[in-house]
Amino acid sequence: MAESQSTNKVRLKIAQAGEVVLRQIARPLTREEVVSAPVQDLLELMRQTMYDAPGVGLAAPQIGLALQLAVIEDREQYLKDVPAELLASRERRPVPFLVLINPRIVEYSDEKVEFFEGCLSVSGFSALVSRSRRVAVEFLDDNAEPRRIEASGWFARILQHEIDHLNGCLYIDRMEPRSFMTVDNLTRYWKDLPIPDVRAKLGI
Ligand code: ZN
Repeated sequence: MAESQSTNKVRLKIAQAGEVVLRQIARPLTREEVVSAPVQDLLELMRQTMYDAPGVGLAAPQIGLALQLAVIEDREQYLKDVPAELLASRERRPVPFLVLINPRIVEYSDEKVEFFEGCLSVSGFSALVSRSRRVAVEFLDDNAEPRRIEASGWFARILQHEIDHLNGCLYIDRMEPRSFMTVDNLTRYWKDLPIPDVRAKLGI
């Protein structure tokens, strides 16, 4: 998922919509593969690429690899310039660095929330996407240990977005089509408006 500020470090090329790898079902990793040097090195490269983009999540298909692997981190520094009421409405709080291997969403809340969302693989665009407010996810961590987390708010959104990537799904498959817009226009016209007002003005 895309963030709106920038740093500069090592980065891999990020696949853009239209690359077939973004539409493939990624293959699971074995526990032996997870702890192998190539996969551990890859995780570090993905972390640096996510920081550099900058993004709050990056899935392996986005760097051209159809593997069930994603990294997530919502850094304190991304939140410091976001108005407090926006953070509150999105239930957005810092999320420490997290590696997800072979993740599966095992519970979705019926309650959904709708916000603008972006993707490093649909660069320069954004749209309203409705997602479950809470999810539970089972996965292997970077030591190949089974874990389960329960997440709500923006963290739950990031998880749903990144796990979609591992199943060949992009946010544009789930978006409210009339809300699709450039990030420039989102910033210029829409970002501070309440979502019901956005929907009304866009004729949704
Ligand atoms: Zn994405």
